[in-house]
Amino acid sequence: MSSRVLPQFDLLTPQSIPEAVAMLAQHQGQVSVLAGGTDMLVWNYIRKVKPAYLLRLSGLDDLDNVNYIPGEGLRIGAKAKVVQLLDNPDVAEKFPALFQAAETFATPQIRNMATVMGNVLRGSPAGDCSCAILALGGQVVLQGPEGERLVDIDDFWVAYGVTERKDDELAVELRIPEPTSTTRSAFIRMTRVHEDLAKLNVAVCLEINQNTCQQVRISMGCVGPILVRLKQTEKMLVGKQISDGLLQQLAASAQEEIAPIDDQRSTEEYRRQVAGVILKRVIEKAIGAH
Ligand SMILES: Cc1cc2nc3c(=O)[nH]c(=O)nc-3n(C[C@H](O)[C@H](O)[C@H](O)COP(=O)(O)OP(=O)(O)OC[C@H]3O[C@@H](n4cnc5c(N)ncnc54)[C@H](O)[C@@H]3O)c2cc1C
Repeated sequence: MSSRVLPQFDLLTPQSIPEAVAMLAQHQGQVSVLAGGTDMLVWNYIRKVKPAYLLRLSGLDDLDNVNYIPGEGLRIGAKAKVVQLLDNPDVAEKFPALFQAAETFATPQIRNMATVMGNVLRGSPAGDCSCAILALGGQVVLQGPEGERLVDIDDFWVAYGVTERKDDELAVELRIPEPTSTTRSAFIRMTRVHEDLAKLNVAVCLEINQNTCQQVRISMGCVGPILVRLKQTEKMLVGKQISDGLLQQLAASAQEEIAPIDDQRSTEEYRRQVAGVILKRVIEKAIGAH
């Protein structure tokens, strides 16, 4: 049989969230959830992962929303595609890091298929929407046999490709908190070609008042087995006026804080050098300095 033929599987097509959860529980450990399939099918093919069942989300209603709720924040349903972020003016205005991640994400074909949730659940350190969401903060809503469980995005990725989701839980929604009038955010990624995954990506979300940083979250991808927050570098920024000198210090701190590897997309040395430069640029982009 050709190596391009997917392994055999049974397709589960639940019509409601409770039915999906019951199927996950019934066949625990043998089911892969299929959203857009842009990671899952490639992963199954390359890694020869052979789940006995694929659980398709297409029969589930009400999970394809991207809604901004004033006073609460952004809600992204498990079936919402990356392209929907670009079609939503609230995302562009209030969550620029996420909008910019969606803008640079792959090609129109992939953006039309890929879900934002699939990006988070894949648990790749290169995930562009995931990088933006880590900087913006938020929660993943999981539905399991015991009911709903909320996991903070800071705790969601535990190892490469491994998340906090249990086998019998379905991820149903992403929640990103309401920004304030002083929140600024931005995202930048470097790639070999536009269609490729990131060599390095970075996102920042700051509370800024009269050029002084009150709070900050910095996330960086492709510099370790999971996406990371640069907490040491964040501490150096809080309470400070943003200046060229401070940006240089932050760049040096970021280079120390990360643990990149050599792979087909970049060398460790290149990633470390570039990390400082793109951190400086993303902060300038967020505060509109350039
Ligand atoms: C050509 C190409 C280019 C790409 N370019 C980029 C890029 O520029 N940036 C980038 O970040 N990624 C890129 N990717 C990777 C991929 O497109 C994204 O990670 C995408 O967001 C995955 O979403 P999906 O809906 O296709 O997920 P799927 O492939 O369906 O699923 C991904 C994983 O999440 C799990 N999952 C999905 N939804 C749920 C759920 N509701 N509950 C529980 N588990 C769930 C699946 O079981 C699987 O393990 C690219 C992929 C390809 C093939």
